[in-house]
Amino acid sequence: MNYNRSHIKIELGRDYYQAYGINVTYTHCQYDKFEHGYAQLNTALLSFLNLDFANRSANILTCHRCGYVQWFNKDIKRVHR
Ligand SMILES: [Zn+2]
Repeated sequence: MNYNRSHIKIELGRDYYQAYGINVTYTHCQYDKFEHGYAQLNTALLSFLNLDFANRSANILTCHRCGYVQWFNKDIKRVHR
C-alpha cells in the first residue's frame, strides 16, 4: 500500500478553537478539544468530490475524543483557556 498523506498536516496540541467568534464544539459528543490540521483542497480527492472550486487550504479539526472531523473553509482561531 502506498498512501500519500503529505497533503494533510496535523499539528501537535489539543486546544479550543473558535470559528467566526463562536466556540467550536462537536455535535456528536459535545467535546470541545481538538487537534488542528490543514488539508490542501486542490487534490484529486477533492476534485473527485467536486470541491475543487476551493483551491486553497482548509482547516480541519479532529475531535480528540471520538475522532469526528469538522472542516472549515475560513480561518479559525485557537483559544487558550
Ligand atoms: Zn467527539
